[in-house]
Amino acid sequence: MNNISVAIIGGDLRFVRLCELLIQKGIDVSIYGISHPDIPKEVRVCASLNEIKGCSYIIGPIPFSKDNKSIYAPMSNKHISIEQFFLIAADSYVLGSVLNQNMRDLLDKHNIKWRDIMDMDEIAILNAIPTAEGAIQYAMQNSEITLHDSKCLVLGFGRCGKILAHKLHGLGAKVSVEARSSLDLAYISTYGYTPIPLYDLNNHLGEFDFIFNTIPVVILDRQAIDLFKPDVVYIELASMPGGIDIDYCHKKEINHVPAPSLPGIVAPKSAANILYQCLLLILRNQGANL
Ligand code: NAP
Repeated sequence: MNNISVAIIGGDLRFVRLCELLIQKGIDVSIYGISHPDIPKEVRVCASLNEIKGCSYIIGPIPFSKDNKSIYAPMSNKHISIEQFFLIAADSYVLGSVLNQNMRDLLDKHNIKWRDIMDMDEIAILNAIPTAEGAIQYAMQNSEITLHDSKCLVLGFGRCGKILAHKLHGLGAKVSVEARSSLDLAYISTYGYTPIPLYDLNNHLGEFDFIFNTIPVVILDRQAIDLFKPDVVYIELASMPGGIDIDYCHKKEINHVPAPSLPGIVAPKSAANILYQCLLLILRNQGANL
């Protein structure tokens, strides 16, 4: 795979592990906005964003940006301007993640070929495994009770919700899952969890020791929060704005646990392998014979 050049911009520890993996596979790797002692010596460390220009593939961090102005680079003190990024990425294929509509429009406007890897179910489902394990780790660390026999609510039955419910059930928790579609509610019931339709959620909120949210829309308002058990542990998995009125949550002193970017924190090597599988899929879809 020597003729394939990959640039990695920003990102957390999983992108360091991805560098190592790509080098092992014989791929040319350039990096900008990520610094770590484990970065292999074969990696080309760029001093400016301009040096990335011309790489066949650019892999951006997860999420791509937290402020819509700069690329997320927690392992660097560099501010990487998105505007400047658009100017150097024109000839590359960009793999982004959790791209909002504005970002997607801007990529199109600059005629950049791109893909949001979290739109790829086969990747997002694999990524839900370290996410679910991390959520369980955070729940254990933030509570004085076992998950076994505890009452757990999972909000949402998408890719993360499904895997998390399955793993909590396996640990002996009493699992309820909220969903809004009747199809999801039927599956939830079939798997042995308690189904809770969204419209009926407030009638149940007071029952739970743990609430895990995977819905990136605020569905828990003041009235809903007032129904919580006082010692509930609320784990926020969803991307911004999350699922809850956070100011009111703090005011009520709810044990609110932010849990962003879990794969990169709890399982960076596994997460890097998922990113590598993603890159292979995209390369094959582009016609590479791998
Ligand atoms: P997903 O498959 O799209 O699932 C999202 C869930 O939210 C679905 O059940 C969906 O219900 C529900 N939902 C969306 N809008 C809703 C609304 N207005 N009202 C009620 N329910 C609504 O997404 P995912 O892959 O599971 O990811 C879930 C979230 O976690 C995302 O924000 C993602 O960025 C984030 N994430 C975080 C981590 C981490 O480390 N913390 C890791 C991976 C993903 P319907 O099916 O009915 O639309």
